[in-house]
Amino acid sequence: MNRTVRTARGLVLALTCAPVFALSAQPRVPDAAGAVPRGMSAITRADLERDLYAMAGDGMRGREAGTPDEMRASMWVAEQLRSIGVKPVGQDGSYFQWFNMVRTRVSTVSTNGAVGETPLTVWTDFVPLGSANADVSAPVVWLGDGADSTIDVRGKIAAIQITAPPAASIRTTTNSKEVRYANAAITAATQRVQRRGAVGIMVVADSTTDVAFDGLAVLRERGTYDVDGGAPRFAGQATQAARPQSARTAPTPAVLVRGRMAARLKAGATAEFHVRVEHFTTPSSNIVGVIRGTDPVLRNEYVLYSSHQDHDGVRYVIDGDSVWAGADDNGTVSVALLAIARAFAKQPGKRSVLFVYHGAEERGLLGSRYHAAHPVVPLGSIVAVLNGDMIGRNHPDSASLLGIQPPHRNSTELVGMALRANTLTGAFQLDSIWDRPTHPEGWYFRSDHVPYARLNIPAVMYSTNLHPDYHTPRDKPSAIDYPKLTRMTQWMYLTGWYVATTTKRPAIDPGFKLER
Ligand SMILES: [Zn+2]
Repeated sequence: MNRTVRTARGLVLALTCAPVFALSAQPRVPDAAGAVPRGMSAITRADLERDLYAMAGDGMRGREAGTPDEMRASMWVAEQLRSIGVKPVGQDGSYFQWFNMVRTRVSTVSTNGAVGETPLTVWTDFVPLGSANADVSAPVVWLGDGADSTIDVRGKIAAIQITAPPAASIRTTTNSKEVRYANAAITAATQRVQRRGAVGIMVVADSTTDVAFDGLAVLRERGTYDVDGGAPRFAGQATQAARPQSARTAPTPAVLVRGRMAARLKAGATAEFHVRVEHFTTPSSNIVGVIRGTDPVLRNEYVLYSSHQDHDGVRYVIDGDSVWAGADDNGTVSVALLAIARAFAKQPGKRSVLFVYHGAEERGLLGSRYHAAHPVVPLGSIVAVLNGDMIGRNHPDSASLLGIQPPHRNSTELVGMALRANTLTGAFQLDSIWDRPTHPEGWYFRSDHVPYARLNIPAVMYSTNLHPDYHTPRDKPSAIDYPKLTRMTQWMYLTGWYVATTTKRPAIDPGFKLER
C-alpha cells in the first residue's frame, strides 16, 4: 500500500503541493469517466478560510444547541446555501427541519441530602449519578473497595471507596484527565454494587476524584439530552425505549461524595438523599438543501453530505477563554459542504445532492437521529451518506475514513469510490486504527453517519481525528491547516461526484452488523 501510495502520492503531491499553493489547490484529476469535474475548481482555500472565520469566530459564541447561538449559526448557513443556489427542502419551503430536544437534569432547588444531622448540598457536597427521581434514607454499610461481595447491603445504603479503574476503561481525550479517571472509576464502583439489594449507593471519592469533583458537578449539572421520535443511536436503544418504564431495570440510586466523608460513613451513620429531575424541551433544527441532478431517473436519488452546525457554546474558562468555538469540530466540515455545494452548483451530477447540517450533534447525535427517522426525501432514495467530523488538524498527510473496514464497513463499493478519490485528491495516508471496534474512543460511533448506517444506508465518515484542543476553547480557526482542509474537501467532493455520476448505486454489504 505505502509504496503505491507513495508513488501515486509523490506524483499527486508534486502536482498539488507546489501548484496547490500557486494554483490554489486545483489538482488535475480525472473522474470515474475520465473527465476532470469542472466543479472542482469551485473549491478554494480562500473561501474555506473566509467561511470558517465567519462560522467559528468567537462572534458565533460556540453555537450551542437549543440556544439562540445555534439558531444564528443556522441562519448564517442557510443564507450561504441560498446564495450558492442550493434549494430549500425543509418545513414550509424553508431550509429548516425543526425538532425538539428533550433535556433531563437534576433540579438544584429540590434535590438535597444529609449524613446524620449534617445537611448535604447538591453539586457542592454530593453529585447525583443518575437522572431519575430518588428518595433514599437508610443506615450506611461501609464496603471499602467493594471486593467483598458477601457483605449484606440489602435495604441499606452501600458506601464504596473509589479505587483506580482499569487503564483501558479511561478515555484518552475530552475534559481533564482527572475527570476522565473519575468517570471510569465511578462506573467501576457502581457496577460492583448494583443488583445486591442496596436501596442506595454512596461512592466516596479518592484523591484524584476529589480533584475532579467540581468539574464533574458542572458537567453533570447540564443533564442529559434526547430527541422526540429519533432513530436509535445504539442497538439496545430502540428496544430499551420500547420497553415500559416498569419493565426497565432501574439502576440503584447513586451519588458521589467527597473523600472527607469516608470517616463518617465508616462509623456507620444513617444517610439520606432526595433527587428530583426536571424535563424541558428546547427547539433545535437541521438545515436541509438540495442541488438537483441532471438525469431524469437518477435525480430522484440522493447523495447526502452531512455535517453538524452546533458545538459546545460558552462554558467555564480555560486559559482566560470561555468560547468553545468548535472551528475543527465541526466548522471545518460545515464550510467544506459550502465549497462542495459551489462545486455541484457549477456542475451538477446525475443524481441529486442533499446537504444536511445536523443540529444538536454534540448533545447525542440528536439532529441526525431525527432526520434519519423523518427524512426530507424517501429514505430508500438516499444512496450514500458522506459524513465528516473534524477535517482540519493533525499531520498534513494523515487522515481517516471511518467505515473503511468490518464491522463498521457497510458498503465495499462506496469505500472503493472513496479510496480512489483519495488517491486522486489529497492522497492521505489513511489511519485505520480509529475505525477499530477496540479503539478506546469508540470514534466510529461519535458522529452523524451512525443513525443512517444503522438503517442500512451506505455510510462513511471523513476525519483527521482527535487532538489536544478537542472540546476546549483552543479549537479556533487560527489553528486550522487550510491546505489540508482544502485537500480533505476535494476528497469528500470527488467521492460524492463518483456516487452522483456512476450508473449503479453503491450496494450494502450482506451481513453488515455494527458491534453495538
Ligand atoms: Zn463533531
